[in-house]
Amino acid sequence: GHNLAVDEGFTVVDNSISMIVSQMLMKEKQLEGKVAIITGAASGIGEAAAKVFVENGAFVVVADIQEELGLKVVASIAGPDHRAIYKNCDVTVEKQVEETVAFAIEKYGTLDIMYSNAGIMGPGGSILDMDMEKGFDRTLAVNLRGPALCIKHAARAMVERQVRGSIICTGSVASVLGGMGPHDYTASKHGLLGLVRAAASELGKHGIRVNCVSPFGVATPMAMSGMSVMGINDASKIEAIICSMANLKGIALKAKHVAEAALFLASDESSIYVSGHNLTVDGGFTAVDNSAAMRSQMLMK
Ligand code: NAD
Repeated sequence: GHNLAVDEGFTVVDNSISMIVSQMLMKEKQLEGKVAIITGAASGIGEAAAKVFVENGAFVVVADIQEELGLKVVASIAGPDHRAIYKNCDVTVEKQVEETVAFAIEKYGTLDIMYSNAGIMGPGGSILDMDMEKGFDRTLAVNLRGPALCIKHAARAMVERQVRGSIICTGSVASVLGGMGPHDYTASKHGLLGLVRAAASELGKHGIRVNCVSPFGVATPMAMSGMSVMGINDASKIEAIICSMANLKGIALKAKHVAEAALFLASDESSIYVSGHNLTVDGGFTAVDNSAAMRSQMLMK
């Protein structure tokens, strides 16, 4: 009395539901099969982005100068189909950036996404005593020349292969406001936003999108090194200070939140017509007059 179905289980599952579920799962993987380079991916925001991109189906070149940390990141996210690989790359050196782009293409076949994220805080201090070489030149070399090289070589590869790619740079609230970081850092991040807009204006004709993701403070090693000059070394204390300055209360900005904004900009599905944009991930900080907001809060007390 048995019906021996030779259909690999087709008639025992509700195919309509399983198809919807698998379609939903596919949809969740916004970068399926895409190839990305992330600079500064051995730590902080770049590390979080590497993880989020791989979870969303991408193949990621983890590019950094901290090899040991970068290899650890790769080991934690690559999985059985080797979705991540480390490449030593100092973004200030043109040859190394060019080689990193060539490496991504050699290993994974193409380049769809360049996330230029590596950055340094610089030494800080008064503009009256600004160290032009170790401070200004070095900060601009990493934070502005680096992204320029990343955009140049990624765009070359994309144009050559007719890839409608996505280029993302990590800006900062210091891309639009003064006084949010050291002077050379602020100059570099303002310049970076200009560079992103300029590149978007040229690369649009090739279908290449160029955008900035600009976070408020995140307690990464960079932010911690910035605050260590004030004698604060504890991540939770730094987070508490950042939270006290924030506009959006009740939540601490994490590297993962910034990575998810970068994922949005990387994905054709979610941001196909977004270019030349500065996506602030700052809880509204740069949209409100914080001095006025503070005044009105005091009045309401
Ligand atoms: P992080 O120190 O955790 O990570 C920065 C990474 O960049 C490190 O792994 C470092 O090795 C790498 N790097 C530095 N110089 C490099 C070079 N010459 N070539 C290649 N890699 C290099 O810091 P983070 O906070 O994750 O910083 C990432 C980006 O986010 C930076 O561009 C930073 O300016 C920006 N940002 C950070 C904050 C924050 O509060 N943490 C806020 C706004 C913007």
